[in-house]
Amino acid sequence: MERRKFLTNVLFTGSALGVGISCGRKIQPTNAASMAPAVSASSSALSGRSIAEPARQIPILAETDVLIIGGGPAGAAAAIAAARTGAETYLVERYNHLGGLWTGGLVLPLLSTHAVDKQGKTRQVIYGVGGEMSQKLKDLGMSIEEINPVVDPEAAKYVLDEMIREAGVKMLYHTWGSNVIMEGNELKGVFIESKSGRMAVLAKVVIDCTGDGDLFHWAGEKYDEMKYHIGLVHRLGNIDRIDTHKNGYVKMNIGKPTPIKSVNWVNMHGKDDQNGVDMLNLSQLQMDYRREIWDNVQKIRKTPGHEQVFLLDTASQLGVRMSRIVEGEYKLTLEDSMTYQSFDDAIGVSGAWTTMLYKGKKVPKSERPLWQIPYRSLLPKKTENLLVAGRCFCFERELVEDTRIIGTCLITGHGAGAAAGLAVKERQTVRNLDRKKLKTLLLQQGAWLG
Ligand SMILES: Cc1cc2nc3c(=O)[nH]c(=O)nc-3n(C[C@H](O)[C@H](O)[C@H](O)COP(=O)(O)OP(=O)(O)OC[C@H]3O[C@@H](n4cnc5c(N)ncnc54)[C@H](O)[C@@H]3O)c2cc1C
Repeated sequence: MERRKFLTNVLFTGSALGVGISCGRKIQPTNAASMAPAVSASSSALSGRSIAEPARQIPILAETDVLIIGGGPAGAAAAIAAARTGAETYLVERYNHLGGLWTGGLVLPLLSTHAVDKQGKTRQVIYGVGGEMSQKLKDLGMSIEEINPVVDPEAAKYVLDEMIREAGVKMLYHTWGSNVIMEGNELKGVFIESKSGRMAVLAKVVIDCTGDGDLFHWAGEKYDEMKYHIGLVHRLGNIDRIDTHKNGYVKMNIGKPTPIKSVNWVNMHGKDDQNGVDMLNLSQLQMDYRREIWDNVQKIRKTPGHEQVFLLDTASQLGVRMSRIVEGEYKLTLEDSMTYQSFDDAIGVSGAWTTMLYKGKKVPKSERPLWQIPYRSLLPKKTENLLVAGRCFCFERELVEDTRIIGTCLITGHGAGAAAGLAVKERQTVRNLDRKKLKTLLLQQGAWLG
């Protein structure tokens, strides 16, 4: 491929900004797929022509211990856990807030906090960094419900910012991770793009917390591409001013309560079978959903008793539920989750929030077992120095309803961050990391391993 040839042997000579460390090394290009300008559904809209991008020197912003791309529940938890081990940790987020879909996506219930233990008792399972976040929101009065708490998004953004500040994480907002830097199978760092231009951050360990697996895709890992429902969540204001006694009042879908009593959040199932990494599709859905929400809210406002209800906001992050799922060292199964499968390398435990179909039987959440997550499910098969956390770690599709959920993302993020920090400290690779030491560290960091 012309484009690929052109990008071989990019030579780094140091930072033009004077903020990086000079280093001369040959960096291999990324896989061809990463250079392709678009994916699947979009390709029909492409002209079929391409243009060569000239090779150029890229400033190195930093050479660090741990680099995390994506500041959702997984990325924020990973950054805090890594920085707490003493590792220098950079966190890169394309938007202006942490929390990903939890906050920017207005997906407010932190699900899967509880499940049934071997003694048949429903118990809390989400502890560690994620548990701390939840507790802090509760202490602020910005969370409702004991099990699967619903939080206020602005409070969650604030709490996450304060936690990464306290942990000493070096935060890069308004910055995209735009490609990987490889030497053979070894991941050496990531190119980033921002208003300051294109730069590189080199790191001993990188964690893919993009939700969509951008990094393992660019690194050439195998993955499952899952098309799923995409929605757009929004919030309504003046809920407390609805007059249910008004003549002609009809109950409308006004969503569910949040910690602010005048505000409800409204989930959207959205269209099925959607490609979550296709920019044309995402653009179209964004516009269609905004119109749909606006029209719906007008209908609500015209319904007697609802005149004062208004559209407070639509989510700044479109609700992509699923896209890429990495092929990792271990694929977690529905069977594992339903049978108390235990793993020597467990990094945490997650819970159940919905009914699951298992062996032809519907098992309600009140009967569903808690389930362990093995470290191997965070390790991609081929790429060295890379861990994957959040909704794109390695699991089979049948388990997707539990694995994509915020509670699980917090647990995988914490596990990956602690592992990255430990690997740096012990001078081991993340693949060969001493699993016993990892478990000891996680327990010291407040995790619960089951
Ligand atoms: C409509 C909808 C409703 C849902 N309802 C619930 C619910 O009620 N409860 C629940 O627990 N879960 C729910 N979920 C699932 C849950 O919100 C997500 O799966 C979870 O937030 C995933 O966490 P994550 O950290 O893996 O990824 P995300 O939350 O997607 O965060 C990824 C972050 O990485 C950033 N990013 C991505 N790519 C790059 C890049 N290249 N460079 C820099 N930054 C990047 C993004 O901006 C984002 O902030 C819902 C999801 C949707 C879409």
